Amino acid sequence: MDLLRARAAVAPLRRDLDAATALPGVDSLVAVARPEEPMHCLRPAAIAAASAAFVQGFPGETLYAVKCNPEPAVLRAVWEGGVRHFDCASAAEVSLVRTMFPEAGIHFMHPVKARSAIREAWQRHGVRDFVLDTAEELAKILAETGAGAEQGLGLFVRLALPRGVARYDLSGKFGAEAAEAVALLRAARPHAARLGLHFHVGSQCLDPLAWRRALELAGTVIRAAGVAVEVVDVGGGFPVAYPDVTPPPLGAFFAEIEAAFEALDLPGATLWAEPGRALVAGGGSVVVQVQQRRGGDLYVNDGVYGSLSDAGAPGFHFPCRLIRPEGEASDRMQAFAFFGPTCDSADRMAGPFWLPEDVREGDWIEIGQLGAYGACLRTAFNGFDRARLVEVRDPPMLGGETGAAAAIAA
Ligand SMILES: *Cc1c(COP(=O)(O)O)cnc(C)c1O
Repeated sequence: MDLLRARAAVAPLRRDLDAATALPGVDSLVAVARPEEPMHCLRPAAIAAASAAFVQGFPGETLYAVKCNPEPAVLRAVWEGGVRHFDCASAAEVSLVRTMFPEAGIHFMHPVKARSAIREAWQRHGVRDFVLDTAEELAKILAETGAGAEQGLGLFVRLALPRGVARYDLSGKFGAEAAEAVALLRAARPHAARLGLHFHVGSQCLDPLAWRRALELAGTVIRAAGVAVEVVDVGGGFPVAYPDVTPPPLGAFFAEIEAAFEALDLPGATLWAEPGRALVAGGGSVVVQVQQRRGGDLYVNDGVYGSLSDAGAPGFHFPCRLIRPEGEASDRMQAFAFFGPTCDSADRMAGPFWLPEDVREGDWIEIGQLGAYGACLRTAFNGFDRARLVEVRDPPMLGGETGAAAAIAA
């Protein structure tokens, strides 16, 4: 492992942890503020720790996938953890990251971009790397940047993967089939100072072998193209814990990726990864209030049009705990379903969410593992867009420490 990089990752984390212990805890905030709107609780120390663990454990460069949670406090915590590169998918994400971190490496990893976004990224924000999965997009990037290898242009071909085992399959929308990827690598090579092959196994992917299979396919494509590549980007998809899921430690994924990459024997090539969920999921929760109870259904003030989108149709189970500042709750647990605040009957979250059997109107519930794909998916539908954001010192509600420790041990 690169010693300098490790030191850069750890030193700011210490400072961050000192500052974080001065932050309030969730329970005391609820007792004082008695929030009637969803209260988003960010855990900067948890995000910095998970980021540091990934940066130190992954055998290559770590890019944070900004879409997962673009909150500035989250980006700062990721930076504190040692991440210096960002995977952006829009002009707005590029601009946000550049404003916050003038020194950051920014990589435009969306295969279908607006022409204006390419121009703005290249000219105004110094972005050099762009992804593509068609010849049309290659032509668009070359035309809008007006650049090539001499100006430092980086070109990344997104490879399609067969449908995999990830919780969120991402194979349907983007990616060139193997034969097309071969042609694109050849076509891009003369224009690229840096040529990469890139894939995404799907989000919340629990099987380390998914990366091995993808890397083997990548190797076949690169050999068939007969050109050198500088980067193999294994994307995101690294899993985190949920109440019904305990993923293998991150180190198992890193070991599989490193071994499969070395077997490809690509002289001069380096590995990149673009984690989102794995860096930030444990670092966010939302505190909701129970507005009504109907048997096993709790009507709460956040839902699938708010930060609980993944608890709706995707059916994620999130860890829950009751907060009742005055008085004890029953220690017998019961499975509940939630209804969100909007008038849409699709605003339902089946759970099961395990809570004390005597939960009642006025109680608060903290819902955890929501730092990823939570608050950033909120809409203003039906007027329920008010929420507050606080920073807290609490640890992640699930698996945070073990995940980080396991990754460092790897
Ligand atoms: C969403 C996305 C990621 C992050 O995925 P996670 O599953 O959150 O790790 C990385 N790369 C690309 C191209 C993405 O679209």
